[in-house]
Amino acid sequence: MTAAEIRQQFLDFFASKGHHIVPSAPIVVKNDPTLLFTNAGMNQFKDLFLGNKPAPYKRVADTQKCLRVSGKHNDLEEVGIDTYHHTMFEMLGNWSFGDYFKPEAIAWSWELLTEVYKLPKDRLYVTVFEGDAKEKLPADSEAAGEWKKYIAEDRILMGNKKDNFWEMGDTGPCGPCTEIHVDCRTDAERAAKPGHELVNNDHPQVIEIWNNVFMQFNRLKDGTLEPLPARHVDTGMGFERLVRVLQGKQSNYDTDVFMPVIHATEKLCGKKYGETEKTDIAFRVIADHIRAICFTIADGQLPANNGAGYVIRRILRRAVRYAFSFLEVKKPLLHELVPTLADQFAHVFPELQQQVDFVKKVVFEEENSFLRTLDSGLSRIEALTNAKASNAGTTTTDDKITSSAATTAATIDGKIAFELFDTYGFPIDLTNLIASEKGYQVDMAGFEAEMKKQKDRSRAATELDMGDWTILQDQPSGVFVGYTELETAAKVLKYRKI
Ligand code: ATP
Ligand code: MG
Ligand code: MG
Ligand code: MG
Repeated sequence: MTAAEIRQQFLDFFASKGHHIVPSAPIVVKNDPTLLFTNAGMNQFKDLFLGNKPAPYKRVADTQKCLRVSGKHNDLEEVGIDTYHHTMFEMLGNWSFGDYFKPEAIAWSWELLTEVYKLPKDRLYVTVFEGDAKEKLPADSEAAGEWKKYIAEDRILMGNKKDNFWEMGDTGPCGPCTEIHVDCRTDAERAAKPGHELVNNDHPQVIEIWNNVFMQFNRLKDGTLEPLPARHVDTGMGFERLVRVLQGKQSNYDTDVFMPVIHATEKLCGKKYGETEKTDIAFRVIADHIRAICFTIADGQLPANNGAGYVIRRILRRAVRYAFSFLEVKKPLLHELVPTLADQFAHVFPELQQQVDFVKKVVFEEENSFLRTLDSGLSRIEALTNAKASNAGTTTTDDKITSSAATTAATIDGKIAFELFDTYGFPIDLTNLIASEKGYQVDMAGFEAEMKKQKDRSRAATELDMGDWTILQDQPSGVFVGYTELETAAKVLKYRKI
């Protein structure tokens, strides 16, 4: 089954269960001070969950473009290193706004996975919320009861608050969730060790694919829960993970979601995917990052020096550096991948095809401009780390690298990190990445001090990212208005870091 067929089957299945199929919301969130990018399928429905707007349809389903690179969900560091976290990914979802609840949601998840997609039942595990006495949260015995109708009891695992309870903020709508995990290991591996303890344990072949959230409580200020008048279902399934499981691959990148871009990259750099771990990581990072870059630009967010635009610039520069250092391509390459993606997604996200020349041009300009300083910046780091190595741990006046007893790794001075940022255009996370590859760390306090000295280029109030979102509790109406002051301060600091 191709990825396109798998996506369509999901939508068709939920259409057959009375769901209205809606388009993906843009990946870039405008007019919401708490969120820069869509990070879950539910974001576009938040007003419906909060009761601020009536739901035009009781049941909807879609595939949503998501980006998890900032705020509550930041998977950037995993990308390319692991094989199932992406910056940009599609989240397939079905929703009930005050309509069906646990019995239907669980029955349909099971039906879709085992009857439509024909996943073997003995590869599946589900988790349900075990309860949390300290937080006065009850166990989800209803979900467990529903699952018992379909799956062997020893495959129903109890999960903690972190994995199996969703809440909007400290107060407001919340509820337990139940997740479905797939064991993709070989038969021999599964026989040797059952998958139970590998669930939610970062095992690359035992992966979470689908989360079903049941919004049923309203959490009050004193921590008590009251039932919501209308209960909702909010689900999210990672499309790329589903495709990987159904296509029997070891990695999301080996599927027809990513291989077209990987093949296009191979042609451009003359290297092959699968040759060395180092080049493979570069292939994966590029295949991942170019999607994030293309879809955010196509949704109206240009790379820039602050806010959402700077997030995109950081991702793009990160990809350029992987191509430059590990695939040894010293000229712009990423823009050449744009048409491949545009063709591939023309039937599902036509916005990229419609603007392909524009997106290509923006990406070209960006990589071209960073390539002008990348080499000198890298040489600067190289010289510093070499100087450090030859000085064998002593501090010199001009190399700005110190090794103190207080730090375990050698440290790159904050002033140098700032110079790399300011003069060479190195986002601080890129400097951190390169430093860590060489066994160094960056003096972040020093870097931030330098940043503070410079005029603040970001207008913090419009650049906050609070995770899903939070509610200002003191509003008598209880409607969503923004963020708390405390959180604002924290986020301002966070954003000043980059
Ligand atoms: P994980 O524990 O693997 O990080 P999650 O619990 O953070 O996933 P949810 O917030 O529950 O993920 O999102 C719903 C689904 O979206 C997940 O079950 C997974 O299939 C998919 N998903 C989440 N994050 C990513 C990502 N970074 N890349 C690809 N798919 C993802
Ligand atoms: Mg996660
Ligand atoms: Mg999880
Ligand atoms: Mg989850």
